Amino acid sequence: MRDDAIAADLEALDARDLRRSRRVVAGRQGAEVEIDGRKVLCFASNDYLGLAGDERLIRASIAALERAGAGAAASPLISGHMELHDELERELAEWLGCEAAVLFGSGYHANIGTIAALVGPEDEIFSDALNHASLIDGCRLARARVSIYPHRDTGALARSLGASRARRRLVVTDSVFSMDGDVAPLAEVAELAARFGAWVMVDEAHATGVFGPEGAGLVAALGLGERITVRMGTLGKALGGYGAFVAGSRALIDWLVNRARAYVYSTALPPAVVGAVRAAVAIARGEETRRERLWRNARRLHEGLVSAGLEPSPLESPIVPIVLGASRTALDVSRRALAAGVLAPAIRPPTVPEGTARLRLTPIATHTEEQIDRGVATVARALAEVRS
Ligand code: PMP
Repeated sequence: MRDDAIAADLEALDARDLRRSRRVVAGRQGAEVEIDGRKVLCFASNDYLGLAGDERLIRASIAALERAGAGAAASPLISGHMELHDELERELAEWLGCEAAVLFGSGYHANIGTIAALVGPEDEIFSDALNHASLIDGCRLARARVSIYPHRDTGALARSLGASRARRRLVVTDSVFSMDGDVAPLAEVAELAARFGAWVMVDEAHATGVFGPEGAGLVAALGLGERITVRMGTLGKALGGYGAFVAGSRALIDWLVNRARAYVYSTALPPAVVGAVRAAVAIARGEETRRERLWRNARRLHEGLVSAGLEPSPLESPIVPIVLGASRTALDVSRRALAAGVLAPAIRPPTVPEGTARLRLTPIATHTEEQIDRGVATVARALAEVRS
């Protein structure tokens, strides 16, 4: 089949500075990565605790591989739910103080599977305008009515909850917004949900391992465990591996095991990944100093950027965006920074709203102070060159 139409669509993306391509990273992920045979400082990953390349995860992964083999060989309800999965689910539930947890293939799977299993055409979802794409796609799959409230606007949320006559109501929000780095007003959201008899689902992808006692997330940090119906977290960000989980009541988890299609019809996670993640959970819980280093690095990066005259968004999480506006500007700054040895990714529409292209910088626990300072100086110089 001829694909001229696809090629034309790609050219149209190019013309608007919206075409994307992948860089090949050699070796392990970490504070520095190798691209095109050159070491560059990496401020692009979600490896917040610096665990993706950690020797202990690698050892645990090899041990799991030897114990349980390369693959789970089936979906969980057939024969793919292995001892390792069961052990990790118990550990996650215990960590978060929930009755139970269930593993999903990825955060994307967890979000689409969970939302579509909980609500349907007679129901209504209330969704923050800046929620992650996987939550948005979950809303679409559920075929429920979707009311999008302006970002973090609890007044607007209260009004739409009050006006709703739906059978079930589900409020869905990121706890840390992935491209903005700000946090959801979870206490107010939980309060409103209780007042209007709604459920709350919180996506803790960027909060797991980063916020709260033993890194249990923002819900735990705010003491809201009892009031949040669904807590979703990912295993591929601060926990350095891959996959995701949903934690909550025993009834919720049993329902998802029965009815979340992204769970039921997909092969269980491979043992090696589960082994690595179990080691990561122990480290995330036990090494408070690692989390402190992450936050110290985030503050240093943020203060450095402010001192250099850049205008990063206020610091609420280790995600530090610098909104530049035009896609071309963000791309040019990012390219210049990379040429000077710093990977500072440009984020463009449709990932962020039109006219808000940005650099998104993420420090990790294993960056040294010198590396943070070099990152700041390089990005500041790149931006000055593009603006001059
Ligand atoms: N939710 C949020 C807020 C995310 O940032 C991401 C990852 N980009 C996901 C869900 C999806 O998780 P995963 O990468 O494990 O599919």
